[in-house]
Amino acid sequence: MHSDSTRAALAEIESILTDASFGRQVEMVLSCPDTDTYRAASSDGSVTFRREAVDGRYRYAVAGTTGLDPLADRSTARFDDHRTERASRFPARSDNTYPHGFDSIAQFFDGTHAPDAVVLHTAGHRFNEHLGQHGSLGVVQARGPFIAAGRGIRNLGPLDRSTRTVHVAPTIAALMGLNPHPHGVGADGEHRPDALLRRQDGDPEAAILSGDRAEHVVVFLLDGCNANLLHDVMSAGEAPNISALAERGTQYRHGLMASLPTATLANHTTAVTGAHPGHSGVLHNRWLDRGTGRTPDLLELDQMISAMRHLDPCVETIFQAIQRSRPGAFSTASFEFCDTGASFSSFGLLRDGHPPTLPEGRVSHLDADAAATSHAYRFMSGVDHTSAAHTIAAWERTEGNPLPALSWCSFALTDEAGHESGPHGEAARAAVRDTDGRIGDVVAAVERSGLIDRTAFFVIADHGMEQCDPTNDLLWNDALGEAAAPHLDLDGFIYLRR
Ligand SMILES: [Zn+2]
Repeated sequence: MHSDSTRAALAEIESILTDASFGRQVEMVLSCPDTDTYRAASSDGSVTFRREAVDGRYRYAVAGTTGLDPLADRSTARFDDHRTERASRFPARSDNTYPHGFDSIAQFFDGTHAPDAVVLHTAGHRFNEHLGQHGSLGVVQARGPFIAAGRGIRNLGPLDRSTRTVHVAPTIAALMGLNPHPHGVGADGEHRPDALLRRQDGDPEAAILSGDRAEHVVVFLLDGCNANLLHDVMSAGEAPNISALAERGTQYRHGLMASLPTATLANHTTAVTGAHPGHSGVLHNRWLDRGTGRTPDLLELDQMISAMRHLDPCVETIFQAIQRSRPGAFSTASFEFCDTGASFSSFGLLRDGHPPTLPEGRVSHLDADAAATSHAYRFMSGVDHTSAAHTIAAWERTEGNPLPALSWCSFALTDEAGHESGPHGEAARAAVRDTDGRIGDVVAAVERSGLIDRTAFFVIADHGMEQCDPTNDLLWNDALGEAAAPHLDLDGFIYLRR
């Protein structure tokens, strides 16, 4: 329950940010005015909604609206192909949709270090040098691809469906036949006897599971890969390796919806644990630690490589869950931040003072034009080359290791290039093609092991990527700085100074 002064401070900040002068930049301002009560306000309307737990799940009910309800449309199907998305760039609030909006907002404010208010950028707002953006609730920024194939996965082809990042780890756990956690907790924070992970906010994606158990699973996480872009590159025949997987499996055309904030550290952790960012301990890339007053910044390399020291001890990674059910099983996390419990981790090498050497001048699958114009493209291609190499080495058992039960292979170039050119730009397209080549190399290594028939594959992203409008670059920082209420603004995370 907020004090009167806190309510007044929040109201002032909300009023500054929802002024019509920022109508094209501020999508909405989110807050949690009371226990299990949430508010989303925009320049043309607001909604207040409440949460209650019923049979282990949360249910939401609208408590009141003014003007246009900013969360009225929560469709997962809007802008569901590349052509439509391009034709509808920079959608207004009234054209945009906010998949799982109520649940995505509510989980966020469960976080111990959640701010008092969050400002979300509009779909088209350009707030830094990048032409591609993500982080908001809108469907394009939330939507990554979801493709699964191989052992234990039904061959249903492309389906007009979507799923959520929080379902990824439970799906893998079910596919591998892992044991329920004896103290498993479900979405509402209460004991859930069939939870396959210690804190399981999601559920196994039963529609794709055939009932056969996969002995091995390989996950390719393409950071920030716009699902429609990937599907378009596949349709053009330019991603033959991912297409080959999709053809023998299931592809959700409406993709994989990230939880708020639709950002990297938060949703990598959600994908690997099955816990929302508000429950995992990794709320975002940066936040204010309300206990110490420090501001972790997990995009700084030295903090990035040990980001999982923030992982809530009541959360379990899929790597730990595999260890619990299959003691001695070997697992790999190639350039994956959320690596707790993995037998091998690329970031673990860095933590131990043995940084992997990046290839110089011998990067495979490097688009010549993109590489010629961008240092960042060349650098990230080297990182991804190394990520693929680490996964391939595990499958070739170069260290005498057992074959991996789980290989989680993360790629970063798709995010880098998506930011740089926007998801409709040439660099983003080239990044998908290059990443497809690296995926082909890993699949070939699995094939050489002779166990591809016992292996399932996933192609996912941590969040989407949306093209922004270079002319829409007004910033609200100065206006917010004049608020009477003392506060800290961390990239739109607003903490009141009490
Ligand atoms: Zn990311």
